[in-house]
Amino acid sequence: SEVYLNGKWLKPDEAFVSVFDRAFMFGDGIYEVTPFYNGKGFKLKEHLKRLQYCLDEIQVAFDAFSLEKLMYEAIERDNLNEADAAVYIQVSRGVAARSHFVPEKIETTVLLYAFPVTLEGFEKKTWEVIATEDKRWHRCDIKSTALLANVMANEEAIAAGFAENLLVRKGYFTEGSHSSLFFVKYGVVHTHPEGHKILSGITRAEVINICADLNIKVVEKPVHIDELVEVEEIFVTGTTTQIIPISSITHKNKKVYSAQKDSLTKKLQEVFIKRTRE
Ligand code: PLP
Repeated sequence: SEVYLNGKWLKPDEAFVSVFDRAFMFGDGIYEVTPFYNGKGFKLKEHLKRLQYCLDEIQVAFDAFSLEKLMYEAIERDNLNEADAAVYIQVSRGVAARSHFVPEKIETTVLLYAFPVTLEGFEKKTWEVIATEDKRWHRCDIKSTALLANVMANEEAIAAGFAENLLVRKGYFTEGSHSSLFFVKYGVVHTHPEGHKILSGITRAEVINICADLNIKVVEKPVHIDELVEVEEIFVTGTTTQIIPISSITHKNKKVYSAQKDSLTKKLQEVFIKRTRE
């Protein structure tokens, strides 16, 4: 496999960045993960648009769309044209003597590589999850490489034998540690509104599109943990997660939710498979 680093294609063990890279020292960088179904990028423009938004928000001058060709080149170089894969992109603010303020002259560090990923068979999975306090910062819309709170949340779940951690802020579910979150209540799909409290998931947006096409009502409103008694189905979405139903939620060592149904989730999965495989 090969990685693209600052204009060069290198073997991973020959690709190095400075210890003074700001992504290393401060988590001062943005990342993006884009899926390639059978070699073809899915929602590639949307992923680059989100990358551009995030770079603009942290005032890193960089043209995200200049990476489109390199993404396909990464797939080609690793012979993933006929496989399922994803491309990881990371744009760091760059290398400079350590200081919180941003130096005037600094060049971005750009890393990009493809990796194989299993995208088939997700519809056969269900996840048992835990729910804990959302300890993240107040700009979760920025896909920052500073993922410590997400790592801590996910590790807490994995260490206890669960698949994911659903994050709760002031009693309301925001999203998963690395996934968007949906609830079905009385046949209506509920999900946290976009804004600073969640990442604007690309898969989330596609699921909302699918609901519109299927005449399923979507309400972008947060769901409170006390509302779980009224919830029939829960599912999470993400680039490599795709759409996975939640079978149970454990909160403070107590089971607070068990799935009632899976019919709506199944319908969305079916259409999602068609769209990603067409
Ligand atoms: N929310 C968080 C915190 C994430 O890290 C991710 C990405 O994996 C998502 C949601 C899902 O976003 P997307 O569908 O764009 O992959």
